[in-house]
Amino acid sequence: METAHVVQDAGANMLRGGAYKPRTSPYSFQGLGEEGLRLLAEAKEVSGLPIVTELMDARDLEPVLEVADVIQVGARNMQNYGLLSELGRAGRPVLLKRGLSSTLEELVMAAEYILKEGNEAVMLCERGIRTFESAYRFTLDLMAVPVLKQMTHLPIVADPSHGTGMSQLVGRVGLAAIAAGADSLMIEVHPNPARAWSDGAQSLTPERFQQFMCEARLVAQAVGRDI
Ligand code: PEP
Ligand code: MN
Repeated sequence: METAHVVQDAGANMLRGGAYKPRTSPYSFQGLGEEGLRLLAEAKEVSGLPIVTELMDARDLEPVLEVADVIQVGARNMQNYGLLSELGRAGRPVLLKRGLSSTLEELVMAAEYILKEGNEAVMLCERGIRTFESAYRFTLDLMAVPVLKQMTHLPIVADPSHGTGMSQLVGRVGLAAIAAGADSLMIEVHPNPARAWSDGAQSLTPERFQQFMCEARLVAQAVGRDI
């Protein structure tokens, strides 16, 4: 609830949180499931912000549809074609994240599985790919943004949080993504990142997020975009 208020005050227009979380290790916190969905519904109620949340398994579609305004497909499920087709039929907007080692062609073809079923509300998300570079967790592929805009008509989201894995990089890389033409950014925020149950290392504090939003407005203006 605290994060919902903070990001809303700073100008965010969607709230993203995971109830079903695709963690690399099965021993890491896996999300709160239906209880998490209930909390997201409460955050939506108090903030009025639309909710984005991940669906990992088509068997959870019904409860997710009750709260999600946008359904996220995570990087690890980008080529789960059964799930994509199901979401094509579910009719709710989808945020499709690029697979860790997927080409842009594969991303666009994954989106086609949703579009083909009649759901045209798909956003594509660049969230960093694996490269030989080990100084940061992933390499946010900034060139993917203008290239995807050439390849498709779909809105492009950039995720500098998962894309870098490091909070000190999120601001600079997020600004670069705006300049590269991203239509939206996904930024992780936590009131106390050191105590976060997941992804604290890449989460911005509320103060840093507020500052980032001011910088984002300036860059957006400078490149002729609205925010
Ligand atoms: C997320 O967005 O919460 C997430 C786990 O990201 P990704 O699927 O890109 O790793
Ligand atoms: Mn995360």
